[in-house]
Amino acid sequence: MSRKSRRDTRGFTCIQCRRSIGGESWGTRHRNHCPACLWSRHVDDEPGDRRCPCRSPMTPVGIEVRRDGEWAIIHRCNGCGTLRTNRIAGDDSELALLQLALRPLVHPPFPLDMLTG
Ligand SMILES: [Zn+2]
Ligand SMILES: [Zn+2]
Repeated sequence: MSRKSRRDTRGFTCIQCRRSIGGESWGTRHRNHCPACLWSRHVDDEPGDRRCPCRSPMTPVGIEVRRDGEWAIIHRCNGCGTLRTNRIAGDDSELALLQLALRPLVHPPFPLDMLTG
């Protein structure tokens, strides 16, 4: 099994769930987060350049909906605190994305009975 690939498939092992992730995916040229748990790593200065020396895990902290309706994941670096938005990929877990999007509704910063009272 030593089939040479023409393309540079920079896969990685997920820092959170230890899944091995291929470098290619639907809908994005730069796979930069795990499709199962959505965690990422701080390895890029610019998307795909792999030049950032930080290398710390990046926690998915929220969903951004862009003007064209496309979703993006907001990641926060556990090492340096940098916030990044990353396009979702075609094979990202819908459940993980929904859990991320619903998090503020499940844990609102104010009591919900204020609204219904
Ligand atoms: Zn993962
Ligand atoms: Zn960082």
